[in-house]
Amino acid sequence: MRLAVPRMGNLALIIRDLAVRFDLDYVETPPFSENTVRIGAALAPEFACLPLKAVLGNFVEVVENGADTLVTSGGHGPCRFGYYSEIQRRILEREGVEFRMLVLEPITTSLRAFYNSLRELIPREKASLPALFRELKQALDKMVAFDVLDKRAMALRGLEVVPGAVDAALAEARGMMIGAFTAKEIREARCEAEARLRGVRVDTSRSHLKIGIVGEIFVVLEPFFNFDIERWLGRRGAVVERATSISDRIYPRGRHPVFGYDEDSVAAAARPFLNHKIGGDGLLSVGATVIYARRGFDAVVHLLPFTCMPEVIAKGILGRVSSESGLPVLSLSIDEQTGRAGVETRLEALMDLAWSNRRAKERSAEMGVVR
Ligand code: SF4
Repeated sequence: MRLAVPRMGNLALIIRDLAVRFDLDYVETPPFSENTVRIGAALAPEFACLPLKAVLGNFVEVVENGADTLVTSGGHGPCRFGYYSEIQRRILEREGVEFRMLVLEPITTSLRAFYNSLRELIPREKASLPALFRELKQALDKMVAFDVLDKRAMALRGLEVVPGAVDAALAEARGMMIGAFTAKEIREARCEAEARLRGVRVDTSRSHLKIGIVGEIFVVLEPFFNFDIERWLGRRGAVVERATSISDRIYPRGRHPVFGYDEDSVAAAARPFLNHKIGGDGLLSVGATVIYARRGFDAVVHLLPFTCMPEVIAKGILGRVSSESGLPVLSLSIDEQTGRAGVETRLEALMDLAWSNRRAKERSAEMGVVR
């Protein structure tokens, strides 16, 4: 079995870790490119959402690079994601691609189905049940550490004194984490890595905007598709926080160790506007935006793939959240036709609006006006 897994943010880092832990023959999926999108868009139905097209292109590329087993995840609920592995399998077979598809069902769908599919990847000869749990727990802790480092970097980038210092520190910090495997090594590497980021010189007196990022996980986490929005905003002096991370998505019992607000708190925040799940990350997008409004953020960017059903619903609701809270929310719909210039122009307009709101608030405060 030569395995491959689609790319998405930090996922590649943790797949590398699992390959070492369980001695898996693993082919790294190439980073997304124009070519990936071209292949995926040519094969997929026109109105399929971007993640299906992108992952399809990614699968074709990685099979060409020697992978024969494509690992993907299943799903359930109102969004189409649960069907995607089957659709991708049929499209690839129609194109004559030779591969085997292994679908990992989420634990929340069925613990037994998850365990059985996991055992196809990691048979008992490679890891007994206790060893499997121990190694998965350690891999999860490492995943949290990678995501926390990203979070810290986003909070610092807009305040760095030397341009590029945060990205240099982040690269080093990640390097420290990569070689850590045991619980002790992970704990120590995380301390060192966080200290490396804390060591970056920042100017905390610099006037800055606080901008939250919410939306569908794939476009939120993949810099190729969101035009590296975290760095773009950071380079323009914004302190950025995003509500979504891989760790939070897979962490047991709805806990969100990276965002810091668990599933129940997010649902409670969303409740005045939306009181049930709408699939994908829709509820999180609404709840997190309300949380950012309460925390005094200056703006929120909502990223959604074109035709993403949960996020289209969220987009409508976010209009109300924005008008009731006064928090500017920019929804950016992304597909294979989306151009960088259009996205950047709209982000610049959002930042101008956020600055002008901020100055108006400051003027009101100086004059003692309650808004
Ligand atoms: S959440 Fe949206 S983009 Fe993701 S699979 Fe579902 S419909 Fe597609």
